[in-house]
Amino acid sequence: MGRNTGPSCRLCRREGIKLMLKGARCETAKCPLERQWRNFPPGAHSWRRRRSSEYGIRLREKQKVKRYYGVYEKQFMRYFKMAERQKANTGAALLSLLERRLDNVVFKLGFAPSRASARQAVTHGHVYVNGRKVSVASALMKAGNKITVKPSDKSKKLIKQQLEELGEPHVQNWLSLDAAKMEGVILAMPSRDDVLIPVEENLIVELCSR
Ligand code: SF4
Repeated sequence: MGRNTGPSCRLCRREGIKLMLKGARCETAKCPLERQWRNFPPGAHSWRRRRSSEYGIRLREKQKVKRYYGVYEKQFMRYFKMAERQKANTGAALLSLLERRLDNVVFKLGFAPSRASARQAVTHGHVYVNGRKVSVASALMKAGNKITVKPSDKSKKLIKQQLEELGEPHVQNWLSLDAAKMEGVILAMPSRDDVLIPVEENLIVELCSR
């Protein structure tokens, strides 16, 4: 699988929004989108570029979501096909599927500072689901799933340190967290309102349905 090895902030600058790819740094004044002189798309003469085409606008919406959740084209299209088969609105179903990924859940529970490090924590085996090790970051979580930390000193130290750095945890309504036990539970399936990235999912559906 390909992966982005370039600067993460460049992706945010391209999309024009904070994708929160760098953990705590994203909340500080060091974020390029907080600085006037860096808050424009990357590349030479980018401010001179013409307005995007209809296709370009739709493509940017899709890329924004892919970069936010850290998925690539093939996997994204697999989620889209799954969303199309659901009875619910395709765009909302697509976003709900992406929200249910294990790496996203681990990030939202505060066990990791970013989705990328959540993915690493999962693939390195620090995360258990319903008492069993799950090392697949794309595993889809269901209501009732319990996310815990591997019962080893190394794993517990890693997650505890992250939770302490986070301070008072603010988890979304579809999740519950017991920070002392380092245990999270999926209470319900995430809805469209639980998706925090500003995106027009209908444009993605229009692009991918072609
Ligand atoms: Fe970089 Fe984070 Fe700001 Fe994005 S939100 S530009 S990743 S610091």
